[in-house]
Amino acid sequence: MALIKCENVSIGYEGQTVVRDLNFEIQPGDYLCIVGENGSGKSTLVKSLLSLKSVEKGKIVFGDGLKQNEIGYLPQQTDVQKDFPASVSEVVISGRLNSRGLKPFYTAADKKAAEEKMDMLGIRDLSRQCFRELSGGQRQRVLLARALCATKSLLLLDEPVTGLDPIVTAEFYQLIREINRESGIAVVMVSHDIESAVEDATHILHLQETALFFGTSDEYRKSRVGRNFLGGGDNA
Ligand code: ADP
Repeated sequence: MALIKCENVSIGYEGQTVVRDLNFEIQPGDYLCIVGENGSGKSTLVKSLLSLKSVEKGKIVFGDGLKQNEIGYLPQQTDVQKDFPASVSEVVISGRLNSRGLKPFYTAADKKAAEEKMDMLGIRDLSRQCFRELSGGQRQRVLLARALCATKSLLLLDEPVTGLDPIVTAEFYQLIREINRESGIAVVMVSHDIESAVEDATHILHLQETALFFGTSDEYRKSRVGRNFLGGGDNA
């Protein structure tokens, strides 16, 4: 059963449809990259997957035990409050709030989950440091640990490597591959980096108002859309 199934989904702003008649699904353990030029509707679709924006038409069905509020979300760097005066461990544990509803305290299980994720991502020794004092790469690891605290089955990452240098970017992609393969957590990543997307992901959704392509990465490489996009040097 699909974790998420989009059936004839259209989404818009004030009557103007920007994403039209989308059909695709995400199965447990999939790694889906959403690619497409600026303005093609990627962020709009992300908002609807997070239930932050209602759809105009069609429906988004959550299955296989996934609840709408149990998606681990890593927002774009530009959306993150970098000046937030919180420690690393406070940022990580805040990922537990979403899936339990707002409670004014954390349980022992929450603390354990946060520590496990910090160990997993090699950031335990940063736990008392202030989030705003970290490098961009460290901040992404902290936000990834936070997202992992919120989910057992699906990570949603919106252009997670923007602003990171090539080495840190490669390390981040490696981490995502490991999490996907070893923990079986499904990954949905909005990406500008088409080469890495095709290399790492199992599936590609290429948006241009509607789905120009949805299928496996291998199929995408062979498809007309994929060949044009990959060969054309236009990685937008
Ligand atoms: P992408 O993430 O692929 O760059 P977006 O989802 O941000 O694309 O945008 C898709 C289209 O929707 C664009 O034409 C954009 O101008 C429009 N759009 C995005 N956000 C809003 C908004 N809040 N109000 C009106 N139009 C919007």
